[in-house]
Amino acid sequence: MKTFKDPKKLQKWAALRKREGAKIALVPTMGYLHEGHLSLIAKAKAMKADEIIVSVFVNPVQFCPGEDYEKYPRDEKADYEKCKAAGATAIFFPTPANMYLENHSVYINEEQLSQGLCGARRPGHFRGVCTVVAKLFNLAHPDFAVFGQKDFQQAQIIKRMVRDLNFDLDIVVAPIVREKSGLARSSRNTYLSDEEKTRALAISRSLKELKANPAQRLSSVVKKLTQAGLKVDYVEAVDVETLKPVKKLGKGVAVLVAAYCGKTRLIDNIVI
Ligand code: AMP
Repeated sequence: MKTFKDPKKLQKWAALRKREGAKIALVPTMGYLHEGHLSLIAKAKAMKADEIIVSVFVNPVQFCPGEDYEKYPRDEKADYEKCKAAGATAIFFPTPANMYLENHSVYINEEQLSQGLCGARRPGHFRGVCTVVAKLFNLAHPDFAVFGQKDFQQAQIIKRMVRDLNFDLDIVVAPIVREKSGLARSSRNTYLSDEEKTRALAISRSLKELKANPAQRLSSVVKKLTQAGLKVDYVEAVDVETLKPVKKLGKGVAVLVAAYCGKTRLIDNIVI
């Protein structure tokens, strides 16, 4: 497996591989890899990519002031080993300084899908995400990029960016990987104590119950989360394409949750 730190070197190599006819997959991550990330690599492998490039970059631009940028978990060595074992062919570890040169002044703003949900609660977050993902597309020359449904709004925004800015690649969205307990896997789960992990289960459990019985009201989910001692950031039902709120749960509707368990902000969703 190749390792790149310098964006220019990655770009040169990926362009060469592309000219040689290789099918290139990109898996963008912030590292501290878990089974959820590895499922994206597996998906790229199943889609017969010749090169699977995993980027590991805690992107400062997508964190809001006061969020966990500094304390976000990092473990390059473990990430390297996991990527290698999962069948990635290249790993990219850029630094903030070589991704954002002095006076970096160009950013990408998606102006519809990012208005609500996490976009409303984390101002500037999706501007940071779109900007770094566009840069990664330009560096890795992927034929397709794999994202997780775990970040449902993010995946929809990236698809829109690819459509609207004519990026020449496909976006593949892979299902949410969960722990046995049902908890959606996340690098941030490492912040949770055992007791918090148990309380956090209310999120996946109440979403599962809602999917089984869509006649329930969203307020029942809010109630269950609150009873478990979580602080609800939002529970919303939206149209899967437009991300606009809908009143009735049914086909083509996603229910998205963001809630604080102690200081840790967790997200999860289900598509009905
Ligand atoms: P992150 O490192 O959290 O920025 O995530 C990188 C990519 O992995 C994103 O496309 C996420 O949606 C995806 N991902 C994170 N957690 C999971 C999960 N539990 N299941 C599937 N994909 C995931």
